[in-house]
Amino acid sequence: MKGRTALVTGSTSGIGLGMARALARAGANVMLHGLGAADEVRRLREDLARETGVRVEVSQADLRVAGEVENLVRETEQRLGGIDVLINNAGIQFVSPVESFPEERWQAIQEIVLGASFRAIRSVVPGMKQRGWGRIINLVSAHGLVASPFKSAYVAAKHGQVGLTKSVALELAETAITCNAICPGYVRTALVEGQIESQAATHRLPREQVIRDVILASQPTKRFIEVEEVAALALFLCGEHARSITGAAIPIDGGWTAR
Ligand code: NAD
Repeated sequence: MKGRTALVTGSTSGIGLGMARALARAGANVMLHGLGAADEVRRLREDLARETGVRVEVSQADLRVAGEVENLVRETEQRLGGIDVLINNAGIQFVSPVESFPEERWQAIQEIVLGASFRAIRSVVPGMKQRGWGRIINLVSAHGLVASPFKSAYVAAKHGQVGLTKSVALELAETAITCNAICPGYVRTALVEGQIESQAATHRLPREQVIRDVILASQPTKRFIEVEEVAALALFLCGEHARSITGAAIPIDGGWTAR
């Protein structure tokens, strides 16, 4: 990855941060991106740059705002050079019965998960084609392959990302640019911590029971996937041995989608 430029959206925490860290450790210059307290985000950037010796920049573009994805791509190119690796990872969750699902939450999920992925891909592909190499990864979910109740917006957007992945892969198949989806089961991050808390309150159950019987009910291994496992898969997809893997939606889900 030495000398490559990587943009990982939603990399100020969780899986995105893990993937950005893995790419930086492999030598890529990295644009960190995401929301969060400005001083914490700045500290993340400084720590990663110090640890790895690569160039690390940071952007706090809000992907709900029109035009911000394109600005993020432009800013990355200006500060770090043409984007070789794009990982669309930013995402949010909201759980509600479909009949009372708030319009505003639906729109936000479609925009951050699906709309921003499309716009980022559209913005980076011309440069990748020009330079003759590229890796696009959409960090999707097992929910891009199967559904759960009460997550209509998330499941719809994640299934959409899998479709986007396949279409883009076919369009670029004769180039050295690949496009793939990574579909994790439950990974213990802030996004899942929030679900543990809300499910514990809803079901009036202790946390440990919620984790085993509610959150991990569909994950046969009954353990969370580690961020580092997902990051290692992303790094592999960025390598030369993955050049024939394109248009794939790869589960890393403890057997969830084997059912
Ligand atoms: P996380 O909450 O730790 O990280 C989400 C990232 O997205 C953060 O950097 C956040 O700042 C950013 N983000 C959120 N809203 C944004 C906005 N409006 N504009 C810009 N950035 C925004 O969550 P995570 O668990 O690391 O999730 C990362 C991705 O992985 C998401 O797409 C999620 O759907 C997917 N995923 C997570 C799990 C899991 O179990 N944690 C499983 C499957 C898929």
